[in-house]
Amino acid sequence: MSLRKDIRERFNPPSVLFDDEVSDKYSSDWTDSGKCKPEAVLRPKTTEDVSNMLQLCNSAGQTIVVQGGLTGLSGGASPKPGEWSLSLERMNKIIEIDQDALTITVQAGTPLSEVQQAAEDAGLYLALDLGARGSCQIGGNIATNAGGNQVIKYGMARALVSGMVAVLADGTVLTNRNKLLKNNAGYDLKQLFIGSEGTLGIITEIVLRLFPKPLTKQSAMCGLQSMTDVIRLLKEARTRLPSISAFEVMWPNYYDVCINVVADARNPFSEEYAYYVILESEGHYPDTDFEHFCELLSDLMEQEIVTNAALAQSISDAENFWKIRDGIGELTAELKNAAHFDIGIPIRNVEACVNDIQDTLLEKFPNVTAYYFGHLGDGNFHIVAGTESEQQKYGVYDAVYEITGKYDGSITAEHGVGSHKTQWLHHSREEAEIALMKTLKVTLDPKGILNPGRIF
Ligand SMILES: Cc1cc2nc3c(=O)[nH]c(=O)nc-3n(C[C@H](O)[C@H](O)[C@H](O)COP(=O)(O)OP(=O)(O)OC[C@H]3O[C@@H](n4cnc5c(N)ncnc54)[C@H](O)[C@@H]3O)c2cc1C
Repeated sequence: MSLRKDIRERFNPPSVLFDDEVSDKYSSDWTDSGKCKPEAVLRPKTTEDVSNMLQLCNSAGQTIVVQGGLTGLSGGASPKPGEWSLSLERMNKIIEIDQDALTITVQAGTPLSEVQQAAEDAGLYLALDLGARGSCQIGGNIATNAGGNQVIKYGMARALVSGMVAVLADGTVLTNRNKLLKNNAGYDLKQLFIGSEGTLGIITEIVLRLFPKPLTKQSAMCGLQSMTDVIRLLKEARTRLPSISAFEVMWPNYYDVCINVVADARNPFSEEYAYYVILESEGHYPDTDFEHFCELLSDLMEQEIVTNAALAQSISDAENFWKIRDGIGELTAELKNAAHFDIGIPIRNVEACVNDIQDTLLEKFPNVTAYYFGHLGDGNFHIVAGTESEQQKYGVYDAVYEITGKYDGSITAEHGVGSHKTQWLHHSREEAEIALMKTLKVTLDPKGILNPGRIF
């Protein structure tokens, strides 16, 4: 009771909500429906608020779940019994755009789409994009080291972070609004918080790198007959199209079901193929970019690497390709007890790994249908599978993660470990690595109040 009193003495609604003031929206992330409503939600406006709130919670040993836009797919932001939530939703200001340094400085709770728009309004470009752009927050993106649709060209979210303000569990504020491209003055501490899923500190402000806005975009949907051809297409595209910005692969069962479940999705082909690839490039040369793109595709069709290709002739054509690819939302809504995977696999092992997964699921769970698609240009593919029960879902996770480890893969290429994948971390990380992670956690958060039970 004394913590409640101490918090209420310093913060009033809407900065802090208790019991009936707390709505259901804080109960879970995107994958866990309505699991556990926290008894309190802290809603800071400033880094100083976050620091004061954490000081009080840390002294009282109150555990906290950090909440961004709640679009996470691994349960990291879903409260556990007894945890209070700290939501960044009111920290949503664009602070500065620096046209000389090519950076934007924002509060961590700003939705990704608003950061993209602010950059665009300034004639610049934020090279981070994902399906949840309207709801996810930039702080959540950095805390999960998000991937998305353009990693092949610009790298993961980590590559875009220049500086950061973060708050440790005891309220200590670490301020480094670095804009320098080169800065080797000691440890690069921001890296500790990128991808650590809120377990080491709370990110409150971020300085992000921006790029000149591309002037052209070329898109095609390609039909191919084998994974060998898909990989040859990837290699050729990387060599001949330095501006390649997306390489998304869909297996035929995913492609077909999305055409059916996504309203207005149009199939650009009349024939069926073994694999479908969305290939995109962005450039700065309106006179030649389209020509280069077409040349590449026509050469590869001549060499019978690409069997068929539909070129986007308009923005609406390109949007149609992405509607099919982004049909995962509609597809998931049709599935019961869906198991979601975001697996990372070295490109050369993808075909063997997927075949192994398909054979194993067929043998162990013949009634489970799994759909395969993903950012294959980054060695990352997704599986979504409807299951009959929570127990069967666990069995599917267990089987797939074991196979992932066998092929030198990562159990999570982009969504993070959260609280869903902790028991499988050993398939992707060695004992000594996990031990060092635990040492870091104890050093930065000795009372274990921040996101306990996430990652390990
Ligand atoms: C339709 C859809 C498409 C998606 N596509 C992609 C994709 O292409 N690539 C991809 O990587 N992900 C994707 N995701 C997953 C999700 O959008 C990302 O993981 C995103 O980065 C999470 O951001 P969020 O603000 O919603 O974070 P939340 O879900 O609120 O939190 C995620 C984790 O980060 C922690 N956290 C949040 N904010 C902070 C902060 N300020 N400081 C410290 N810790 C924090 C939380 O505690 C939690 O552990 C998709 C999700 C959906 C629903």
